[in-house]
Amino acid sequence: MDNKDFFKNKTALVTGASGGIGRAIALALDKEGVRVGIHYNSHEDSARELLNMMTTPGAMIFKCNLTDENEVAKMFSEIRTTFGRLDILINNAGIVNNGMLLRMKTSKWKDVLDTDLSSAFYCSRDALPIMLKNNWGRIINISSVSALHGNYGQSNYAAAKGALISFSKSLAREVGNHNITVNTIAPGLIDTEMLTTVPEEHISASVEKQAIKRLGTPEDVAGLAVFLAGPSAGFITAQCICIDGGLL
Ligand code: NAP
Repeated sequence: MDNKDFFKNKTALVTGASGGIGRAIALALDKEGVRVGIHYNSHEDSARELLNMMTTPGAMIFKCNLTDENEVAKMFSEIRTTFGRLDILINNAGIVNNGMLLRMKTSKWKDVLDTDLSSAFYCSRDALPIMLKNNWGRIINISSVSALHGNYGQSNYAAAKGALISFSKSLAREVGNHNITVNTIAPGLIDTEMLTTVPEEHISASVEKQAIKRLGTPEDVAGLAVFLAGPSAGFITAQCICIDGGLL
Protein backbone atom coordinates (compact mmCIF):
# COMPACT_ATOMS: atom_id res chain seq x y z
CA MET A 1 0.00 0.00 0.00
CA ASP A 2 1.39 3.44 -0.77
CA ASN A 3 1.53 6.17 1.86
CA LYS A 4 -1.37 8.19 0.43
CA ASP A 5 -3.86 5.27 0.67
CA PHE A 6 -2.51 4.26 4.06
CA PHE A 7 -2.78 7.73 5.62
CA LYS A 8 -6.19 8.58 4.09
CA ASN A 9 -8.70 9.43 6.86
CA LYS A 10 -6.04 9.09 9.56
CA THR A 11 -5.65 11.71 12.27
CA ALA A 12 -2.66 12.73 14.36
CA LEU A 13 -1.88 14.89 17.34
CA VAL A 14 1.57 16.48 17.34
CA THR A 15 2.47 17.98 20.70
CA GLY A 16 4.78 20.98 20.65
CA ALA A 17 3.90 21.67 17.03
CA SER A 18 4.54 25.38 17.66
CA GLY A 19 8.25 24.49 17.96
CA GLY A 20 10.82 23.49 15.34
CA ILE A 21 10.65 19.68 15.22
CA GLY A 22 6.91 19.44 15.92
CA ARG A 23 6.16 21.90 13.15
CA ALA A 24 8.17 19.84 10.62
CA ILE A 25 6.44 16.62 11.71
CA ALA A 26 3.00 18.26 11.42
CA LEU A 27 3.83 19.53 7.93
CA ALA A 28 5.17 16.13 6.82
CA LEU A 29 2.08 14.27 8.09
CA ASP A 30 -0.21 16.84 6.48
CA LYS A 31 1.60 16.32 3.18
CA GLU A 32 0.76 12.60 3.39
CA GLY A 33 -2.94 13.44 3.83
CA VAL A 34 -3.18 13.07 7.62
CA ARG A 35 -5.59 15.37 9.47
CA VAL A 36 -3.33 17.01 12.04
CA GLY A 37 -4.05 18.36 15.51
CA ILE A 38 -1.52 21.10 16.14
CA HIS A 39 -0.75 21.40 19.82
CA TYR A 40 0.88 24.45 21.41
CA ASN A 41 1.28 25.90 24.87
CA SER A 42 2.35 29.57 24.71
CA HIS A 43 3.06 30.29 21.02
CA GLU A 44 -0.42 30.63 19.55
CA ASP A 45 1.00 32.74 16.69
CA SER A 46 3.21 29.85 15.50
CA ALA A 47 0.35 27.35 15.82
CA ARG A 48 -2.01 29.59 13.82
CA GLU A 49 0.62 30.16 11.13
CA LEU A 50 1.08 26.39 10.85
CA LEU A 51 -2.67 25.83 10.71
CA ASN A 52 -2.83 28.17 7.70
CA MET A 53 -0.22 26.03 5.94
CA MET A 54 -2.16 22.77 6.33
CA THR A 55 -3.55 21.31 3.10
CA THR A 56 -5.49 18.32 4.46
CA PRO A 57 -8.99 19.40 5.53
CA GLY A 58 -9.95 19.39 9.20
CA ALA A 59 -6.68 20.39 10.87
CA MET A 60 -7.17 22.09 14.22
CA ILE A 61 -5.12 23.76 16.93
CA PHE A 62 -5.20 22.76 20.59
CA LYS A 63 -3.76 24.81 23.45
CA CYS A 64 -2.63 22.87 26.50
CA ASN A 65 -0.05 23.00 29.25
CA LEU A 66 0.96 19.35 29.13
CA THR A 67 2.31 19.36 32.68
CA ASP A 68 -1.27 19.63 33.96
CA GLU A 69 -3.11 16.33 33.69
CA ASN A 70 -6.52 18.02 33.92
CA GLU A 71 -5.73 20.26 30.96
CA VAL A 72 -4.52 17.21 29.02
CA ALA A 73 -7.75 15.33 29.79
CA LYS A 74 -9.74 18.34 28.54
CA MET A 75 -7.72 18.47 25.30
CA PHE A 76 -8.32 14.78 24.59
CA SER A 77 -12.02 15.10 25.29
CA GLU A 78 -12.04 17.92 22.69
CA ILE A 79 -10.13 15.67 20.28
CA ARG A 80 -12.65 12.86 20.82
CA THR A 81 -15.53 15.25 20.08
CA THR A 82 -14.05 17.04 17.07
CA PHE A 83 -11.85 14.38 15.42
CA GLY A 84 -13.83 11.34 16.61
CA ARG A 85 -10.67 9.25 16.28
CA LEU A 86 -6.93 9.43 16.89
CA ASP A 87 -4.50 7.21 15.00
CA ILE A 88 -1.11 8.80 15.56
CA LEU A 89 0.24 10.50 18.68
CA ILE A 90 3.57 12.28 18.52
CA ASN A 91 4.77 13.16 22.02
CA ASN A 92 7.25 15.82 20.97
CA ALA A 93 6.84 18.77 23.40
CA GLY A 94 9.83 19.28 25.65
CA ILE A 95 12.19 21.75 27.27
CA VAL A 96 15.75 21.94 28.48
CA ASN A 97 16.67 23.69 31.72
CA ASN A 98 20.33 22.91 32.19
CA GLY A 99 22.45 23.19 35.32
CA MET A 100 25.03 21.37 37.39
CA LEU A 101 23.42 18.85 39.72
CA LEU A 102 25.26 20.24 42.77
CA ARG A 103 23.37 23.50 42.43
CA MET A 104 20.17 22.22 40.84
CA LYS A 105 17.01 23.50 42.49
CA THR A 106 14.21 20.94 42.88
CA SER A 107 11.97 23.17 40.77
CA LYS A 108 14.39 22.88 37.83
CA TRP A 109 14.44 19.07 38.17
CA LYS A 110 10.65 18.82 38.40
CA ASP A 111 10.03 21.28 35.58
CA VAL A 112 11.98 19.15 33.10
CA LEU A 113 10.64 15.81 34.35
CA ASP A 114 7.05 17.12 34.19
CA THR A 115 7.39 18.62 30.72
CA ASP A 116 9.52 15.96 29.02
CA LEU A 117 8.27 12.78 30.70
CA SER A 118 4.96 13.15 32.56
CA SER A 119 3.43 14.92 29.55
CA ALA A 120 3.96 11.77 27.45
CA PHE A 121 2.40 9.66 30.20
CA TYR A 122 -0.70 11.90 30.41
CA CYS A 123 -1.11 12.12 26.62
CA SER A 124 -0.57 8.40 25.98
CA ARG A 125 -2.98 7.46 28.78
CA ASP A 126 -5.71 9.67 27.32
CA ALA A 127 -5.00 8.78 23.68
CA LEU A 128 -5.10 4.99 24.17
CA PRO A 129 -8.86 4.59 24.78
CA ILE A 130 -9.48 6.48 21.50
CA MET A 131 -6.95 4.32 19.60
CA LEU A 132 -8.28 1.11 21.14
CA LYS A 133 -11.71 1.81 19.63
CA ASN A 134 -10.13 1.22 16.19
CA ASN A 135 -7.69 -1.42 17.41
CA TRP A 136 -4.88 0.51 15.73
CA GLY A 137 -2.44 3.24 16.63
CA ARG A 138 1.06 4.67 16.46
CA ILE A 139 2.73 6.43 19.39
CA ILE A 140 6.05 8.11 18.70
CA ASN A 141 7.95 9.71 21.55
CA ILE A 142 10.73 12.21 20.95
CA SER A 143 13.64 11.53 23.29
CA SER A 144 17.25 12.66 22.80
CA VAL A 145 20.76 11.24 22.44
CA SER A 146 21.40 12.84 25.86
CA ALA A 147 19.40 9.90 27.24
CA LEU A 148 21.94 7.46 25.81
CA HIS A 149 25.27 9.27 26.23
CA GLY A 150 24.46 11.62 29.12
CA ASN A 151 25.42 15.26 28.81
CA TYR A 152 27.19 17.78 31.02
CA GLY A 153 24.61 19.89 32.90
CA GLN A 154 21.70 17.79 31.69
CA SER A 155 21.08 15.29 34.51
CA ASN A 156 17.42 16.36 34.63
CA TYR A 157 16.93 16.28 30.84
CA ALA A 158 18.83 13.00 30.34
CA ALA A 159 16.86 11.39 33.18
CA ALA A 160 13.54 12.47 31.65
CA LYS A 161 14.48 11.44 28.11
CA GLY A 162 15.98 8.14 29.30
CA ALA A 163 12.84 7.30 31.23
CA LEU A 164 10.82 8.17 28.12
CA ILE A 165 12.63 5.38 26.25
CA SER A 166 11.93 2.85 29.03
CA PHE A 167 8.34 4.06 29.25
CA SER A 168 7.90 3.49 25.50
CA LYS A 169 9.37 -0.02 25.58
CA SER A 170 7.06 -1.05 28.42
CA LEU A 171 3.95 0.52 26.91
CA ALA A 172 4.73 -1.21 23.59
CA ARG A 173 4.38 -4.56 25.38
CA GLU A 174 1.00 -3.59 26.86
CA VAL A 175 -0.64 -2.54 23.58
CA GLY A 176 1.09 -4.59 20.86
CA ASN A 177 -1.85 -7.00 20.66
CA HIS A 178 -4.05 -4.10 19.62
CA ASN A 179 -1.92 -3.15 16.60
CA ILE A 180 -0.57 -0.16 18.47
CA THR A 181 3.16 0.42 18.12
CA VAL A 182 5.19 2.58 20.48
CA ASN A 183 8.62 3.79 19.42
CA THR A 184 11.11 6.48 20.40
CA ILE A 185 13.20 8.77 18.26
CA ALA A 186 16.43 10.05 19.81
CA PRO A 187 17.64 13.09 17.86
CA GLY A 188 21.12 14.54 18.16
CA LEU A 189 21.69 18.24 17.53
CA ILE A 190 18.79 19.58 15.49
CA ASP A 191 18.72 23.15 14.27
CA THR A 192 15.80 24.68 16.21
CA GLU A 193 15.16 27.39 18.80
CA MET A 194 16.19 24.90 21.51
CA LEU A 195 19.80 25.05 20.29
CA THR A 196 20.01 28.76 21.06
CA THR A 197 20.53 27.70 24.71
CA VAL A 198 23.70 25.78 23.78
CA PRO A 199 27.04 27.67 23.53
CA GLU A 200 28.41 27.81 19.96
CA GLU A 201 31.67 26.02 20.94
CA HIS A 202 29.72 23.07 22.39
CA ILE A 203 27.74 22.77 19.16
CA SER A 204 30.84 22.73 16.94
CA ALA A 205 32.63 20.25 19.25
CA SER A 206 29.64 17.93 19.11
CA VAL A 207 29.29 18.21 15.32
CA GLU A 208 32.98 17.25 15.04
CA LYS A 209 32.14 13.95 16.80
CA GLN A 210 29.56 13.08 14.14
CA ALA A 211 30.19 11.07 10.97
CA ILE A 212 28.05 13.61 9.08
CA LYS A 213 29.42 17.02 10.02
CA ARG A 214 26.35 19.22 10.05
CA LEU A 215 23.40 19.96 12.31
CA GLY A 216 20.32 17.85 11.78
CA THR A 217 17.23 19.58 10.44
CA PRO A 218 13.68 19.28 11.79
CA GLU A 219 12.82 17.73 8.40
CA ASP A 220 15.36 14.93 9.02
CA VAL A 221 13.42 14.00 12.17
CA ALA A 222 10.04 14.43 10.47
CA GLY A 223 11.01 11.92 7.75
CA LEU A 224 11.71 9.28 10.40
CA ALA A 225 8.48 10.05 12.27
CA VAL A 226 6.44 9.64 9.07
CA PHE A 227 8.22 6.34 8.35
CA LEU A 228 7.42 5.04 11.87
CA ALA A 229 3.79 6.10 11.47
CA GLY A 230 3.58 4.65 7.98
CA PRO A 231 2.78 1.33 6.28
CA SER A 232 6.33 -0.10 6.33
CA ALA A 233 6.72 0.16 10.11
CA GLY A 234 3.88 -2.06 11.35
CA PHE A 235 6.28 -4.66 12.80
CA ILE A 236 8.58 -2.11 14.44
CA THR A 237 7.79 -1.47 18.09
CA ALA A 238 9.56 -0.93 21.42
CA GLN A 239 12.54 0.55 19.55
CA CYS A 240 14.60 3.66 20.05
CA ILE A 241 16.06 5.00 16.82
CA CYS A 242 18.84 7.58 16.89
CA ILE A 243 18.98 10.30 14.28
CA ASP A 244 22.23 12.05 15.09
CA GLY A 245 24.54 12.03 12.05
CA GLY A 246 26.50 9.13 13.55
CA LEU A 247 27.47 10.80 16.84
CA LEU A 248 30.12 8.91 18.78
P1 NAP B 1 11.33 23.93 20.53
O1 NAP B 1 11.41 24.53 19.17
O2 NAP B 1 11.80 24.72 21.71
O3 NAP B 1 9.82 23.45 20.80
C1 NAP B 1 9.41 22.98 22.04
C2 NAP B 1 7.91 22.75 22.01
O4 NAP B 1 7.48 22.23 23.29
C3 NAP B 1 7.11 24.03 21.76
O5 NAP B 1 6.09 23.76 20.84
C4 NAP B 1 6.52 24.35 23.14
O6 NAP B 1 5.24 25.00 23.05
C5 NAP B 1 6.34 22.95 23.71
N1 NAP B 1 6.26 23.01 25.18
C6 NAP B 1 7.22 23.43 26.04
N2 NAP B 1 6.74 23.39 27.30
C7 NAP B 1 5.45 22.94 27.23
C8 NAP B 1 4.43 22.68 28.17
N3 NAP B 1 4.58 22.88 29.49
N4 NAP B 1 3.23 22.22 27.73
C9 NAP B 1 3.04 22.02 26.42
N5 NAP B 1 3.96 22.24 25.47
C10 NAP B 1 5.16 22.70 25.87
O7 NAP B 1 12.15 22.57 20.59
P2 NAP B 1 12.48 21.47 19.49
O8 NAP B 1 13.91 21.54 19.21
O9 NAP B 1 11.50 21.52 18.38
O10 NAP B 1 12.24 20.15 20.39
C11 NAP B 1 11.17 19.25 20.20
C12 NAP B 1 11.49 17.97 20.96
O11 NAP B 1 12.70 17.40 20.45
C13 NAP B 1 11.73 18.19 22.45
O12 NAP B 1 11.16 17.14 23.19
C14 NAP B 1 13.24 18.16 22.57
O13 NAP B 1 13.67 17.76 23.85
C15 NAP B 1 13.59 17.14 21.51
N6 NAP B 1 14.98 17.23 21.04
C16 NAP B 1 15.44 18.37 20.44
C17 NAP B 1 16.77 18.42 20.00
C18 NAP B 1 17.35 19.64 19.32
O14 NAP B 1 18.58 19.66 19.12
N7 NAP B 1 16.58 20.62 18.93
C19 NAP B 1 17.61 17.31 20.19
C20 NAP B 1 17.11 16.18 20.81
C21 NAP B 1 15.79 16.14 21.22
P3 NAP B 1 5.10 26.63 23.08
O15 NAP B 1 6.31 27.16 22.36
O16 NAP B 1 3.82 26.89 22.35
O17 NAP B 1 5.06 27.02 24.50
